[in-house]
Amino acid sequence: MSFDQLRDELTARKSQSLYRQRRMLESPQAPEVQVDGKRYLAFCSNDYLGLANHPDVIQALKQGADQYGVGGGASHLVNGHSLAHHELEEALAEFTGRPRALLFSTGYMANLGAVNALLDKRDAVFEDRINHASLLDAGLLSGARFQRYLHNDAQSLTQRLERSDARRKLVVTDGVFSMDGDIADLPELCKSAKAQNAWVMVDDAHGFGCVGKGGRGCVEHFDLGQDDVQVLVGTLGKAFGTAGAFVAGSEELIETLVQHARTYIYTTSMPPAVAMATLASLKILRDEEWRRDKLAALINQFRDGCEQLGLELMDSPTPIQPIMVGDSAEAMRMSAAIEAEGIFIGAIRPPTVPQGSARLRVTFSATHTEAQVTRLLDVLEKVSQKRD
Ligand code: PMP
Repeated sequence: MSFDQLRDELTARKSQSLYRQRRMLESPQAPEVQVDGKRYLAFCSNDYLGLANHPDVIQALKQGADQYGVGGGASHLVNGHSLAHHELEEALAEFTGRPRALLFSTGYMANLGAVNALLDKRDAVFEDRINHASLLDAGLLSGARFQRYLHNDAQSLTQRLERSDARRKLVVTDGVFSMDGDIADLPELCKSAKAQNAWVMVDDAHGFGCVGKGGRGCVEHFDLGQDDVQVLVGTLGKAFGTAGAFVAGSEELIETLVQHARTYIYTTSMPPAVAMATLASLKILRDEEWRRDKLAALINQFRDGCEQLGLELMDSPTPIQPIMVGDSAEAMRMSAAIEAEGIFIGAIRPPTVPQGSARLRVTFSATHTEAQVTRLLDVLEKVSQKRD
């Protein structure tokens, strides 16, 4: 069988401005990066607190490699579970105020593992329609009855919950929506879930470190707890600046995941040195409030500047500040024009976002400066004038 069909599909993708292309980063994550041999000012990383390249985190990784070597060597249930993993799990449980936390090698795997360990075809899963792909995949794979409710709409959720007679009902939402930057209306969603005896799972990949007191995320931000959100997921590759993920919750939840989550059981543990690096980053993330204050100031500066330029933003208080463009080809044109000015920003197109809602996903880090945001606004002014 030839690959002609695949070639034709790829060509069609290109002609619709939907072709995805990787770029080569030749420097650490930082406000200024080297990509494909050129220096850029970057506004597209999820390293929101600037910890991916922090000396204490790098030092902890080196020390971890000296102590444990490089690879995890085996799955957690064989002999890949080290003291470093254990200490990080204890620290994350304390950080989230939950009895226990369990490490996974990626956020994608944490989401697949948790939903699939909890649900089967006797159950029902209710997802925000713009949830992250890993949450949607998790729900679909579980075999549970899969339903999407309108974005952040507790009424739409209630209607669906009321009609369900499933054994278990699980409501699943992003904490901070990864492509829009808005925060889930957790108080209302949790109220709906409680009224219908459903569990709530929040993936706070983009909330931890950025939202809530001490960076404790969206659940803390709304003063909710274990009784409202039973399954709490965090990823470590974003504000923590390292890699991996965790699920935090009750003793029963975590032991159920240990017994049944296939993405936990059948995979190599994260390198122990990464766990040690994450312990170091957790300390900075929790203690250095100035990083969140700085982010808030940069976000305000950017939003005020965009308002003056007449650029359309989303209702986002977080470091994810997408500029809405609409048409995919136009988003690509703008991204290329911005790049020609020495600024690197990703254009996000369908199917990652709904049809007709292509955007430039601008993200901020606490290590950006006010002058760099001013430079970004100057370039946006120049590029959007060319649009008129
Ligand atoms: N959940 C959300 C909301 C995400 O944005 C992402 C990553 N983009 C993930 C989960 C997956 O996390 P990881 O990159 O650790 O697999």
